[in-house]
Amino acid sequence: MAGNDHAPIIGIDLGTTYCCVGVWQHDHVEIIANDQGTRTTPSYVAFTDSKRLIGDAAKNQVARNPTNTVFDTKRLIGRRFTDESVQNDIKLWPFKVISGPGDKPMVAVQYRGKEKQFTAEEISSMLLIKMKEIAEAYLGTSIKDAVVTVPACSTDSQRQGTRDAGVIAGLNVIRIVSEPTAAAMAYGLDKKARFDDDYVLVFDLGGGTFDVSLLCMCKPDGIFEVIATAGDTHLGGEDFDNRMVNHFVREFKRKNKKNISDNPRALRRLRTACEKAKRTLSSTAQTTIEIDCLYEGIDFYSTITRAMFEELNMDLFRKCMEPVEMCLKDAKVDKSTVLDVVLVGGSSRIPRIQQLLQDFFDGKELCKSINPDEAVAYGAAVQGAILDRKCANSRIIQDILLVDAIPLSLGLETDGGAMNVLFRRNSNIPNRKTVTLSTDSDNQTSILIRVYEGEGTRTCDNHLLGEFEFCDIPPAPKGAPQITVSLGIDADGILEVSAEDETTGQKKKVILNKRFYFTR
Ligand code: AMP
Repeated sequence: MAGNDHAPIIGIDLGTTYCCVGVWQHDHVEIIANDQGTRTTPSYVAFTDSKRLIGDAAKNQVARNPTNTVFDTKRLIGRRFTDESVQNDIKLWPFKVISGPGDKPMVAVQYRGKEKQFTAEEISSMLLIKMKEIAEAYLGTSIKDAVVTVPACSTDSQRQGTRDAGVIAGLNVIRIVSEPTAAAMAYGLDKKARFDDDYVLVFDLGGGTFDVSLLCMCKPDGIFEVIATAGDTHLGGEDFDNRMVNHFVREFKRKNKKNISDNPRALRRLRTACEKAKRTLSSTAQTTIEIDCLYEGIDFYSTITRAMFEELNMDLFRKCMEPVEMCLKDAKVDKSTVLDVVLVGGSSRIPRIQQLLQDFFDGKELCKSINPDEAVAYGAAVQGAILDRKCANSRIIQDILLVDAIPLSLGLETDGGAMNVLFRRNSNIPNRKTVTLSTDSDNQTSILIRVYEGEGTRTCDNHLLGEFEFCDIPPAPKGAPQITVSLGIDADGILEVSAEDETTGQKKKVILNKRFYFTR
């Protein structure tokens, strides 16, 4: 396909369970269908003796090839192998995950007769390539640039991981946007009425992640400002599926005195049936599970009611309300002043969750007018158009300004391990702060700069993003050297730290990633 300087910037929702791609065309967003004619593509990559499959083709063969069919890898991005959440996920996945260099989780599969290892970023890049190809087939031109979304609660390394996935895919990720913020843009554009500093709460419950964001919309000025965000990077539809899977594993054991949990293929077939049953239970009170020859030739037939499904998950459903409360508290906004509660993400279709949310908002009708599966890609495509100079004349988007926020506080370690917060969580981005540090002993020639994210007052309770030593400080009495440390967060939420000795003019810069890049 010929390269094209006029190619639009596409918007990609790189979801835990599904991906979706959209593009701004003729003054509206077009959500693009894949080669199967569907507008969302499963986030699955499969490896066989002869080829690599992505999307529907991968998901369709999962029962035959469970150990080499990879899904859910978004849950691994920016995490360490030894993280508790990674260890818990591994127990449930039929494919193998091992510890790689620097404790990085690596997916190990058989591909073309050999064991191959991939990082989560590499798997995500394969999904990005697929979404790029879907857009290229539709637009008839090659695509270079994309806006990609991440959960609002993503840490710095998860954002960086998403950017890395883009680089591997050969895509220029021109902006990373938080998923609920993108969804809010879809909601905002959908509304004909003008806003007057109205608060809108976006409740985004997907397959693997959960985000709540409170936005202030000022439509005459076209400003969408994220006031607060909260959530759980590890809560979603798949956790509900797991509860149902465990329930039926117990039932099978009770009925047949056999444990199917050591058989990946049987577990996979049961999981697929459970996910389907869960969806059905969003619109009916009871459904059946029918799997022929599930284990050692034994058929499995059973029923499950919506009430039973709710009972199995009630603690998780209640857990979904905590970030809602926290988000409003952080923003110091009373729930009665929220104009609309917008539902996004496939799992927001679960009636009991909707009920709990509606009760929390004292019976307020929830806004279901935007498509929960497509809203994020829709907003990403709008953001792509805003960033695209070629769309600058569009009357609809020319006045929109998106002001995103960081999900976790950022700061430096000071004496005795205290956290000196430079950016409180929910600070708007892009943003920059500067502090001046000095030495605490005479003739000290270096200082250690350690950057943390988290809400603890002690750095030991927070997450170390990176550290670097600022050396070659000329000998001087303690407190005399003036080292200016500057923390900049770019529009993607990625952090850059630089330090400068005011007296010598020596400079050092580091982009906080797993690897540190130093420039002098
Ligand atoms: P997303 O990550 O937003 O694409 O959401 C995907 C998740 O939503 C998966 O866990 C699906 O099983 C779940 N989901 C989709 N439709 C429904 C439904 N009707 N009822 C319950 N869960 C659903």
